Amino acid sequence: MAGLLPAFLAVGATSSILEMTPPIRGLALASLRDMFEEIHNGHPHEAIDILEPRGTPVRAVVSGTVRKLFLSTPGGNTVYQFDEMGMYCYYYAHLDGYAQGLREGMRVERGDVIGFVGSTGNADSRAPHLHFAIFELGPEKLWWKGKAVDPYPGLVAAVKRAK
Ligand SMILES: [Zn+2]
Repeated sequence: MAGLLPAFLAVGATSSILEMTPPIRGLALASLRDMFEEIHNGHPHEAIDILEPRGTPVRAVVSGTVRKLFLSTPGGNTVYQFDEMGMYCYYYAHLDGYAQGLREGMRVERGDVIGFVGSTGNADSRAPHLHFAIFELGPEKLWWKGKAVDPYPGLVAAVKRAK
């Protein structure tokens, strides 16, 4: 255990995690379950799955930059988005597709639609969902190499603020 506080609380008020809005409009608390430490497909999940109908718009949770659009075998269509400070990377996976015109290096504002819920990659086609993760970036700011942070407390707070 690395202390009692989640990393994002230890970072303080500069953390973009504290300013997130929900990735799905109208998201209910009941749709969130802390599955960060579960094992999925033999790997630590280190993310939250949010089940939604296919095609539901997925929105940027913070303002920042689209760092990478990546087609991954497990993740399918994915977006790696950096926050303004380049401190955290927000990861959205299994997307059915990207918002029209979305491209790497592009600025997005919190709440902008970046893609749509789907089941690309290794997701069950009968259970489309958003796989959402947060990575704390190291000094090199490499999109593929961050330290996973549990998104659950930040998502719960975002949903409560959105009410
Ligand atoms: Zn997942």
